[in-house]
This record gives sequence, C-alpha cells and structure tokens, in this order.
Amino acid sequence: MPLSQESLAELVAAVARFVKERLVPIEAEVGENDRVPDDVIQEMKNMGLFGMSIPEEFGGLGLTMEEEVHVAFELGHTSPAFRSVLGTNNGIGSQAIILFGTPEQKQRYLPGLASGQIIGSFALTEPDAGSDAGSVRTLARREGDGYVLSGTKRYITNAPKAGVFSVFARTDPNTPGAKGISAFLVPGGLPGIEIGKPDRKMGQHGTYVSDVVFNDVRVPANALLGGVEGQGFKAAMQVLDRGRLHISAVCVGVAERLLADSVRYASERQQFGKPIAEFQLIQAMLADSYTEMLAAKSMVLETARRRDRGDDVNMDASACKMFASEMVGRVADRAVQIYGGAGYIADYGIERFYRDVRLFRLYEGTTQIQQIVIARGLLRPGTR
Ligand SMILES: Cc1cc2nc3c(=O)[nH]c(=O)nc-3n(C[C@H](O)[C@H](O)[C@H](O)COP(=O)(O)OP(=O)(O)OC[C@H]3O[C@@H](n4cnc5c(N)ncnc54)[C@H](O)[C@@H]3O)c2cc1C
Repeated sequence: MPLSQESLAELVAAVARFVKERLVPIEAEVGENDRVPDDVIQEMKNMGLFGMSIPEEFGGLGLTMEEEVHVAFELGHTSPAFRSVLGTNNGIGSQAIILFGTPEQKQRYLPGLASGQIIGSFALTEPDAGSDAGSVRTLARREGDGYVLSGTKRYITNAPKAGVFSVFARTDPNTPGAKGISAFLVPGGLPGIEIGKPDRKMGQHGTYVSDVVFNDVRVPANALLGGVEGQGFKAAMQVLDRGRLHISAVCVGVAERLLADSVRYASERQQFGKPIAEFQLIQAMLADSYTEMLAAKSMVLETARRRDRGDDVNMDASACKMFASEMVGRVADRAVQIYGGAGYIADYGIERFYRDVRLFRLYEGTTQIQQIVIARGLLRPGTR
C-alpha cells in the first residue's frame, strides 16, 4: 500500500534532517577513517532505512519504487558510502528473497534484513564472470539432501558483515550459460566460507567489498532460492532492475548536492573583483549540470511510477542507470572545475565526491551493459 502524501513527506523530511544533521558533518571523517560509526548505523536502523523496500508484513517500510526513489534522492545528498551501508539490504541483498523466496525463506530472513539485524550481500560477480554474469563458475553440487558450494566470488559489497549471502552458482554443469544457474541463501557463518581482506578502493570509503571463497560449503536443500533450480539468473536480473532505479536516484541526489555546493562556492569565491558566479562561463556549467540533473530526475521518477503500475521497465531502468550515472560523473567533474584548485584539494570534499561517483558507472551493470540491455529491448520484435 502506498504511503499517504503526508506520511511520505514526513519520511522524506526525517531522512533529509538526518542527512543534514548527522551524516554531512562526518563525511570527511568517514572518508579518512574508512569507517561509518556504529551509532550512526544504529540510527539508520532505528529509522527503518534498512527495510525501505521490504514489505510491511516482514517489518519493513514497504515503500513503492517511487517512494523509495524520493528517499534515495535525499540519501544522495551526502557521501554515497552511507547509502551503501544500507543499500544491499534494500536492494540486491533482499530483493531476490522478496521476489523468489519460499514463504519459509521470507520468514527466516526478511524481518532481520528489514531491521538491519542481518546484513544481506549479493554474490554474483566472480574473477572470470563480471559483465558476463551468465558464465559464473561457482558450483553447487547436489549431495545427499543438500548442496555443496565451491567457487570464488569477487567485489562483494558488505561481505565482511554479511549474515546472509544470495549466492549464484551453477547447479547444472552440463548446461552452459544462464539456464544452469541457481540462487542459494547462504548464512554468513557457515564452515568453509572465507571472507577476503577488504579491497582498497578509489572511493566510497566506509563500506567494504571483498572476495568470498566457498570451500565446499554444505547447505541444506531449503537454501535453494524458491526451491527451484535454474531460476538464479532470472532472479539476479530482476533484482538488478529495481537496484538500477535506486542507484539512478542516488546519482540524482548526489548531483543536487554537488550543484548546491557549486552554486554556494561560485557565489562566495571572488576573482577579478567579483563573485565567479557572475561569469557566464561559470553560469553555463551550473546551467548544464542543473539541466542534466533535472532530466535524470524526471526519467527516474517516471520509470519508478511505471514500475509501480506493473509495467516492464527493464529497458528503461537501464536507460535511467546509464544516463544518471554518466550525468553525475559530468556534474562532479564540473564541480571540480568550478572550485578550481580547491576542487582538487581534499579539505573541500569535492574531490571525494568525484572519486565516489565513479563507481556508479561500473557496478550493477557497466554503462556498456546498460547500452546492450537498451539496444536489445529496442531490437526485440514488437517492442516499440
Ligand atoms: C565497489 C564495487 C562493489 C561491487 N559490489 C558487488 C556486489 O555486491 N555483488 C556482485 O555480485 N558484484 C559486485 N560488484 C561487481 C560489479 O558489478 C562488476 O565489477 C561489474 O559488473 C563489471 O564487471 P567486471 O569488473 O568483471 O568488468 P568486465 O566485465 O571485465 O568489464 C570490463 C570492461 O569491458 C566492458 N564490457 C564487458 N562486456 C562487454 C560487451 N559485451 N560489450 C561491450 N563492452 C563490454 C565493460 O563495460 C567494461 O568497460 C562490485 C564492484 C565494485 C567495484
């Protein structure tokens, strides 16, 4: 059930206040220490932010896509690392269970994911299977009344804290490609799971990605997502649809933040005896950034509404992800330019955003993969 206009406005205002009062002041500290403080994470949990997209019957906020997008705009107004802490529980770490889980799997994991007690992680990528996700090599061998998982996953967000992994593994080694892949819900502490040292990243410090190695990890048959083999790839792709809209909304939020910072700096910084905001060449950069941000925002809102109406938005979610993530890259680049030398100096925080937003064009499908999805949709007979 969608929230009333009033409840949504209250939620968005509460998140905006939290971002402004609690998160923005510690952005630099989190960037430097590579750690989001525990009390801040607890506050996010108390606000229900770990369960935005999880249905109310499992303790989540049960937001529609449009509602989630409005909250994600606000979360984008600060360092993307904060959003990443709760991102997997709302997106890739929980959606497979919501969409494909058995009633028992939902009951077992969703309440904990919604409250933030359990951290969900999505383990699809492997050393030799990135964009080509259908080529995963991790094996799930049937043994007795369960399965034995073996293989290596790479760049898994929130792996060091994960209470449950959605693991995509090949149950049918004789069926190459996507059809042989199944999804498993694997509790984090099982014997044989090895979490690698967190990778050192370009940005988004404060959240962690690691390798996850499955050394003959034994799981019962009821760990198979939905109790059906061979639907893992379909599950992964549907999960990414929602995730792509969420990421697009965060990109819009970050662009709004960078634009606000750029406008403020340009109004204060004086050269040639006047604020640089009075120079039309600076104004042009501000206008370009605003226009592109607005275009992305409009796309994201419209696509979110259509998804809520039940339309297939696979292609348009990719169009949003591609445009919004490329857009925020350009906005961040212009922000550095408007700040001049200060844009390159850590104290001003702009260079941190510049590094942080680079990731948006890579994960949950690179820009090239979004282009492929869009083109495939366009070329499918009867699409347009
Ligand atoms: C910080 C971070 C967090 C991540 N979190 C997760 C996570 O939680 N779970 C998870 O499963 N994965 C995660 N990933 C993995 C991420 O989704 C992949 O890195 C991404 O999909 C790209 O795969 P790749 O790195 O193997 O690049 P590759 O697939 O090797 O791509 C390299 C280049 O080739 C291009 N390319 C590939 N195929 C084609 C093609 N057919 N046509 C044209 N160009 C092509 C790509 O666009 C890219 O430019 C994360 C990655 C990072 C960096």
